[in-house]
Amino acid sequence: MVEIPETHPRYRSLRTRELLVEGIEKGITSKAGLIAHGRGEMFDYLIGEKTIKTAERAEKKSVKVLYDAEDPVISINGNVAALVPKGVVSLADRVEAKLEVNLFHRSEERISSIEDILKDKGAEKVYGREADAEIPGLDHDRALCAEEGIYSADVVLAPLEDGDRAQALKEMGKKVITIDLNPLSRTARNANITIIDNIVRAVPNMVEYEPLDEDFDNSKNLSQTLDLMCERLKNLSKEL
Ligand code: ATP
Repeated sequence: MVEIPETHPRYRSLRTRELLVEGIEKGITSKAGLIAHGRGEMFDYLIGEKTIKTAERAEKKSVKVLYDAEDPVISINGNVAALVPKGVVSLADRVEAKLEVNLFHRSEERISSIEDILKDKGAEKVYGREADAEIPGLDHDRALCAEEGIYSADVVLAPLEDGDRAQALKEMGKKVITIDLNPLSRTARNANITIIDNIVRAVPNMVEYEPLDEDFDNSKNLSQTLDLMCERLKNLSKEL
């Protein structure tokens, strides 16, 4: 990995990019994953590259929902595995969730490599290699999942997700929690809980935060997030 001096003003952001480049070299991240990350980075600028209060609330509520779930599953793709492998294993331990590798660009090699990385970080069991069930309403590869994993879960944490799959999971009656920096994406709009935060901050927060035991209105939270983005842009414009 390219060494980035910690004194560089964009150290965290550049290091995150390097993790993804390394993910490609290790065969766990897809090239399209780099583009998806770029879209996320743009929205991260709009929230000031920090966890804003609406995200903190959604993260705390998600911890509560995951704790209360009967059979929660965390869905792992190539970007998640490259950016927060230890974090997702710790979160799964904390809320007693299963881990399932689920890829948009599916290949047996990538699934095995991601499984190895998660096991290296302490995961005992990783679902996904044996795809013995299908999510209804999706075309072939994206629909594949594990019968004992996502297929039978009641709550799915699906970060950096594709809108169609998030919708299809909801139509199966599952609660969908997503982490997605873009409040305008179909996933963000369709999920039951949407965390507008960078996954490199959101997952460690969720390992630490106390669960929020209060009502939560996702549409209201999303709308407040958009208002915060607008306010920030207006303030930045005044500074010029
Ligand atoms: P949708 O299908 O939901 O409308 P999309 O086509 O943008 O959205 P993808 O291309 O699958 O979906 O991208 C995944 C999403 O993940 C993007 O919306 C992007 O903003 C978000 N994203 C990328 N990197 C990160 C990150 N590090 N943290 C949080 N979100 C991210």
